[in-house]
Parts: sequence; C-alpha cells; structure tokens
Amino acid sequence: MVFKDDFVMKDKIEEIRTEAEDELSEARNEGEVEKIRIQYLGKKGRLTSVLKNLKDLPKEERPLIGNLSNKLKKELETKISDAVQTFVQKQREDKFSKERVDVTLPGRCLPLGSKHPISQVTEKVVEIFSYLGFSLAEGPEVELDYYNFEALNIPKHHPARDMHDTFYISDEVLLRTHTSPVQIRVMEKQSPPVRIICMGKVYRRDSDVSHTPMFHQVEGLLVDEKISFGNLKGVLTVFIHKMFSPDTLVRFRPSFFPFTEPSAEVDIQCVMCGGEGCRVCGHTGWLEILGAGMVNPAVFRMVGYDTEKVTGFAFGMGIERIAMLKFGIDDIRLFFENDVRFLNQF
Ligand SMILES: [Zn+2]
Repeated sequence: MVFKDDFVMKDKIEEIRTEAEDELSEARNEGEVEKIRIQYLGKKGRLTSVLKNLKDLPKEERPLIGNLSNKLKKELETKISDAVQTFVQKQREDKFSKERVDVTLPGRCLPLGSKHPISQVTEKVVEIFSYLGFSLAEGPEVELDYYNFEALNIPKHHPARDMHDTFYISDEVLLRTHTSPVQIRVMEKQSPPVRIICMGKVYRRDSDVSHTPMFHQVEGLLVDEKISFGNLKGVLTVFIHKMFSPDTLVRFRPSFFPFTEPSAEVDIQCVMCGGEGCRVCGHTGWLEILGAGMVNPAVFRMVGYDTEKVTGFAFGMGIERIAMLKFGIDDIRLFFENDVRFLNQF
C-alpha cells in the first residue's frame, strides 16, 4: 500500500537535495557555505524541520521518510565539509603565492649598542696599570669616617674636610668622597710591597657642568723599599702617554694633600689647542688631570708600616675628567643622561 503523503514527502526531500546542491555549487566562499549549512541543517533548517515533523506522519511512513532524510543529512554534511575544505585550501594557496620568501635577501641587522665612554676609559685605565704590574683592589662605597678621613691624616675639624662636601649617613658613617680609603683597608691587611689601583664610585654634594654628586675615581698606591718621586713621575708619565698620546707633554706642579708629602698636581698639554692656549685650558696651554704625591709617613704609621724602611706614592684621578679630555666633552652631566644620540658617538 502506497500513501499519498509518501510521494509528497519524497518529492520534498528530493527538492531540498537539488536546491542545496545547486546553492553549494554556486557558493563563492566559506561564509556562504556556512549560510547554506544553517539554511538546511541548522536548528530551524529545512531538512531539520522535516526530521522534527516525522512524528506527525502516519506511523507506516516514518521509517522510509526518516531513512531518506537521514541519508540526505549525511550527504549534505559531507558535501558542506568538503566545500569548506576546498575554500580553506584555496585560501592557503593564495596566501603562499602572494607571500613569496626571497631567501637570498640579506638579513635585517639589529642595531648594536656601544660601550659607555666611562666604561671605555675605565677599561683603558685598568689595562694600562695592569701592564705596569698593578692589581685591582675594592672597597665599600658606604664608608667609615675613620677610613675616609682620619686614617688618611685628615682628623676631625681639619680644614681639608671642607673640600670634600661629604654626604654623611651618621656622625661616623658616610658615602666615600674618594677611593683612598681602599688604600688603608689594603695596607691594614697586607705588608709591603703593595702595588694596587682601586676604582669605583665616589660621592660629593656638588653639581654643575664639571661636577656630579656621584662620579668615578681611580686611585693608585705603590709601597716598597726605595720608592722615590722619580718612580711616581715615571709611572704617571707612562700612563698619560698610553691614555692620550706618546707626545703629550706632562707637567708636575707642587700642591697640597694631607695624605701625601710632597704632593703634586699633574697637568697635561691642552688636548684642545695643543698648548697654544684656548678657552678650555683658560689660555694656559695646560689641563690638570690628577693629584699625586709621596705617601705621608703619618698614613703609614696609622697602618703600622715601618716608615724607616718603606716609602711609597699614591695618585688619584676622576674618570669623567679623563673621558671629557680624551673625547672633548664639555659637560660632565652628558655622561649620566643616557641620551642615545650622545652615546652613539662612542
Ligand atoms: Zn687649550
């Protein structure tokens, strides 16, 4: 027995198949395929509603129509997924054909940094003094008044303390104003001979074109038997010739420091004008670069050295000062601003 409804439903299912296949063949992209899926297989899709309404059909028709509908549903699902795959594949191919990689092109270079001028000068100073047989010593930046001043023959209320503009933490504790306390710490532990340089940050309450509250100093100390001012002159002259140029003229001027006697300030021929006189050297033709002298026996007595047996010399200089003269920089603050346009030049 054949029901009339049977034909109607069969036709309807065939119609859905034809229309869905036509639409799929005309779909131009993934989005359109998705729309077709919703239209036929979505919650309110045409084929979905046929399956939903099976229960309203006469009992005898349900197996046949149900079977046909489910078969079509599977077929459509496969066709839709194939269509999607085709578009994805096509998209990938389009992308690859546009994005051709030329492997022969040179790579992109990352910008390279350079060493800070202060580091460059520091390394050069260490290199020169290592060559001259000095070894590196270190000490704390937060220092006791005793090591920063008293052991260096600068007792409390000594006028020389005024020159230091010290940052005090308490009456007895301060930020070191020079690297000289390291000399005392080394001599307390080591008997002569001593041949060291120490370098590092020092602090003073001072700020203008040639002063910053923190700057870098290097300090040297040589103690042994029969050390004379001649040795001091020799070592510093070699240092200056290696740091600047072998023809740089050097001049020693008498000066005063509480921890050395006799003391000298050391000048070099002006690096800007070559000694003819200019604004930088105050028209003298000379630039002061460091202080030095023979260690005051009072300092040796503080660390228990035999002043009848040993003598020695010490010197100290600002790294920023050397860098300013070496590179022709007129404002010390440039070193600490970290302006890449400035740093790029080194
Ligand atoms: Zn000059």
